[in-house]
Amino acid sequence: MRLKIDITGLVQGVGFRPFVFKLAEELGLKGYVLNNATGVLIEVEGEEGKLSEFLLRLDSEKPDISRIFSLQHAFLEESGFTGFEIRKSMDKGDKRVFILPDISACEECLRDVTEPRDRRFLYPFTNCTNCGPRFTIIEKLPYDRRNTSMKNFSMCPACKKEYHMDSDRRFHAQPIACWACGPWISLYDREGQVLCEKESALEKTVNLIRKGYIIAAKGIGGYHLICDATTEDTVRRLRERKHREEKPLAVMFPDIEAIRQEMNITPLEERAITSIEKPVVIVEKKASTSLAASVSPGYRSAGVFLPYTPMHYLILRKFRKPVVATSANISDEPIVADEADAFARLSGTADYFLTHNRRILRRCDDSVVRIAAGRQMPVRRSRGFAPLPVTVPFKLKKPVLALGAYMNSTIALGIDDRVFISQHIGDLDTPLAMEFYEQAVEDFLGLFRIKPEVVVSDMHPGYYSTKYGERRFQDMLLKVQHHYAHILSCMAENGVAGHTEVIGFAFDGTGYAPDGTIWGGEVLTASYSGFKRVFHLSPYRLPGGDRAVKEPYRSAISLLYETLGEGAAETDVLPLSQEKRLFFINMIKNDINSPVTTSMGRLFDAVASITGLRHRVSYHAQAAAELEQLALGSDEKGSYAFSIEKDTIVHTPMLGMILDDLKAGVPKEDIARKFHNTIVEIIVSTAESIRKETGISHAALSGGVFQNTILLENAFNALKERGFVPLTHQLVPPNDGGIALGQAAFAGRHVKMP
Ligand code: ZN
Ligand code: ZN
Ligand code: FE
Repeated sequence: MRLKIDITGLVQGVGFRPFVFKLAEELGLKGYVLNNATGVLIEVEGEEGKLSEFLLRLDSEKPDISRIFSLQHAFLEESGFTGFEIRKSMDKGDKRVFILPDISACEECLRDVTEPRDRRFLYPFTNCTNCGPRFTIIEKLPYDRRNTSMKNFSMCPACKKEYHMDSDRRFHAQPIACWACGPWISLYDREGQVLCEKESALEKTVNLIRKGYIIAAKGIGGYHLICDATTEDTVRRLRERKHREEKPLAVMFPDIEAIRQEMNITPLEERAITSIEKPVVIVEKKASTSLAASVSPGYRSAGVFLPYTPMHYLILRKFRKPVVATSANISDEPIVADEADAFARLSGTADYFLTHNRRILRRCDDSVVRIAAGRQMPVRRSRGFAPLPVTVPFKLKKPVLALGAYMNSTIALGIDDRVFISQHIGDLDTPLAMEFYEQAVEDFLGLFRIKPEVVVSDMHPGYYSTKYGERRFQDMLLKVQHHYAHILSCMAENGVAGHTEVIGFAFDGTGYAPDGTIWGGEVLTASYSGFKRVFHLSPYRLPGGDRAVKEPYRSAISLLYETLGEGAAETDVLPLSQEKRLFFINMIKNDINSPVTTSMGRLFDAVASITGLRHRVSYHAQAAAELEQLALGSDEKGSYAFSIEKDTIVHTPMLGMILDDLKAGVPKEDIARKFHNTIVEIIVSTAESIRKETGISHAALSGGVFQNTILLENAFNALKERGFVPLTHQLVPPNDGGIALGQAAFAGRHVKMP
């Protein structure tokens, strides 16, 4: 296997390449290291365990004076290096358009704020050349203080001296600040009265958290809602006020030791948690955890992260216990980022407001990742990563703007072989989200000063992104099918080059298809020049259309009808009266508001409902996520029957067997596991059949369903065992947050106008 690592930072002229060389030699790895326009590019090849060790040691043993600002890595297919070499520098790529993400506070700055004799003791905005905000404070390039939201703060003599002294850690640190000259924090009550400022605001905030209050705290990319994560009443109150009844909440811990005490973490998970990006990492809770049950009800896992600004660090250091730190919004609206908005939108949610007077120019939510199959998989790629580019394995023919889809929206701007991907924008279903979306597009175009010559959107005529594209870019607009875009994004980030074809498993909830049905359980063959739909789940109807997303029992009754025919009216596994069952069956039979789908996401929903796990959801994909949690409790190896008839994957035999198992009293954990195993077998057997026909051996796994780690890991391993090259997401999310990359890859290769 090959590991590709793209580092930006102060890694040139500090002995970094010789260090990499020695480490690679020691581990017996082949490949190369080279300096590029923004840092260092490394590719190493060898046994997977050695590659992981290389990754872990790279960070812990790097030269003291080197500084990493970002590190994107991906495990890829072997390419056959013969030795390890330091290659000649490659001065490729336009440095001008390079904008760094926000960088978490460095150890030295954290030391400064805890050192009573330091002039930045307890100063929440302490930063240096090696750390601090970037993306969220830049108005425009070049990145100078006058072009950031620090421009209204003029440096005091002491800061000025540091700024101009080339031996200082803060030499040319644009957001340099201190108590005397920089921004400060203030604590307000709900009525907008200032309670206290500066140091005393920190102290008071911690006391309020201790007393069980909910604080809206302004950070780097927006406000968080913060409260004690160990007190059930408090967390439950937060949920009620946020209208977020069940979705897991992220938890910030004082330090990595505290996380180790409460969670079971692997070395790769620990690496992700402590990485410069400081994402939220989804890891397993220990049975002994002190976290309130309401933090992630129904889950064996919780999302944990570390403080990434001095302000968060100072609060956590004083509180000494984990806090819930969740994006401040109501339901799934965009994160709150300014004071007026905070008081207007959060006055019913937060008890107190910890704000500051540095403007956030760009909203940016926390990123979320999890480790699966020994790789880091982004669930949300935002703070710490945005707006870094993903390098694609070919040169885009023209500058491209990709508009994304609808759920978990992101947009992307591509030039040469780089695709810059925006922060998480969210679901485009509220006026606020649409406004944020349009701002994000205009902002990206202005910030990068790239004029797109081709624009690409989803095909769904109802998506806000499509409509916006049609209105704003008219004849520059190309459209690409949703599931094809999923597979393209997976190909592009995995460096699949040229005319290589892959077998694409695009499994998600919903995607518009040109045949007027809703796709979502698709097996494609695809290359950059087109795709063919080879297999799909056997179609079924969704009584009530979109309502099935919130109400899994609708998918369930439909699949029961597919399996049992009229007999479905007699089954009592769903909490529906016979009258209701007949009502839905009638809708399905007579095609009354019951669109046809091949959705894998809805199949997961249906199985969750049939097994009695969940019939209604309060957040996206909840039923499927809970089915995965249930399956984690079983090590059942068996599976259910299915058949493949021409291009159709017939899943009714499986549903019949699930009903039999339910009747026989088989534990639900085992049923859930056998269902997962069956989907893995479907993947393997359709892959085998395509390989036999075409010789294609690359298999790309994409779409939101692959956030399911049981499915991802088992499909990955099963494919590998049979000699396939499985490709998974490591740089962009498998969900619709990764679609923009695939769209950009498509448009960058096909510049003919429709
Ligand atoms: Zn620093
Ligand atoms: Zn100062
Ligand atoms: Fe999708």
